[in-house]
Amino acid sequence: NQSLHALDPEIAAAVDAELHRQQTTLEMIASENFAPVAVMEAQGSVLTNKYAEGYPGKRYYGGCEHVDVVEQIAIDRIKELFGAEHANVQPHSGAQANAAAMFALIQPGDTILGLSLAHGGHLTHGMKINFSGKLYNVAAYHVDETGVVDMAEVERLAKETQPKLIIAGWSAYPRQLDFAEFRRIADEVGALLMVDMAHFAGLVAAGLHPSPVPYADVVTTTTHKTLGGPRGGVILCKAEYAKKINSAVFPGQQGGPLEHVIAGKAVAFKVAASEEFKERQVRTLEGAKILAERLLQDDATAAGVSVLSGGTDVHLVLVDLRNSELDGQQAEDRLHAVGITVNRNAVPNDPRPPMVTSGLRIGTPALATRGFQAEDFREVAEIIAETLLPGFDEARTAVLSARVAALAAKYPLYPNL
Ligand code: PLP
Repeated sequence: NQSLHALDPEIAAAVDAELHRQQTTLEMIASENFAPVAVMEAQGSVLTNKYAEGYPGKRYYGGCEHVDVVEQIAIDRIKELFGAEHANVQPHSGAQANAAAMFALIQPGDTILGLSLAHGGHLTHGMKINFSGKLYNVAAYHVDETGVVDMAEVERLAKETQPKLIIAGWSAYPRQLDFAEFRRIADEVGALLMVDMAHFAGLVAAGLHPSPVPYADVVTTTTHKTLGGPRGGVILCKAEYAKKINSAVFPGQQGGPLEHVIAGKAVAFKVAASEEFKERQVRTLEGAKILAERLLQDDATAAGVSVLSGGTDVHLVLVDLRNSELDGQQAEDRLHAVGITVNRNAVPNDPRPPMVTSGLRIGTPALATRGFQAEDFREVAEIIAETLLPGFDEARTAVLSARVAALAAKYPLYPNL
């Protein structure tokens, strides 16, 4: 019964250092967030000890009476949150949710049609060496020259390739998708429609983004991005697919569910139904808009910095550095030097290699969770602009680092940990 510090000081030190990093820097990776302490408490609970293969009321192990309560609450809450007919809360991650959904809906060798990875899609939407690219025949749609998904191309490719499954969803895209149009195209070619709302689920929960649930046969999501919960995945679907989805997750894909994580998911779904959560998502969107507007001002444009699609409707901005002297790696490193964490990201038709790239993906969910208001996002946007513009040197690094530290100090993170 020793504490982590007593039993394993090496790991404890790394955990402490990570807490300090999160507290003292500004987290702007678009797929990250800060889980509430209550969620982490659930994840660190005795539920980690329990095997519970099966589903609530139908387990292959004894002693499941309490984890049944936990899992059923999680299911009921997320169905209510998104108005879904059925929910499976067991996928260990977003990638596994997608794998299970595809196993349930289509057969190896079938054709899938998803957004190209290079244009903002996810690995699981058909990347060559991912399971999705190995098991299925992949057709990919793209964004047009304005940076918006080309629905005419989606329709043309759907007719040409006759996919069994169309996937709508993204990891790096600053606009909303037209789910009704995806549905129409899917129906036209007899395909099923899966929407992966991993990134924007929190916005949907808050009513600030159209919901895919009425349109899609299956909706997958992660629970740790805008949704702000523990790392994990969820599948929502129409009642007619419930059995297939459940058996594709267990026993198809996974063994025992992570009930401690499912408890954390349940807590996060409760939070996501609150007014406070909605207000946070409003600030998330506002912050992204403030950042996009700042990076579209004349001094940025003159330095070759731009914003893909000319702005954002969601929680992230895609910075286009194709005309800048800086590549994605250099820009990421500069921001790291002043204490802002982002990830470099390929832009459509990127001339630079994938490990370097010509873009940045910058998101606002974690800072909104931390409490940032519009004035704070204006300050962050200014710091980012000054980091990416010419004249960045040691003196400027010191000044900008101090401004980052002041913002971090203004909103203490996990003060009691
Ligand atoms: N789907 C989308 C759209 C994502 O962006 C991601 C994560 O980046 C995933 C699925 C996979 O989630 P996980 O990392 O939990 O497997």
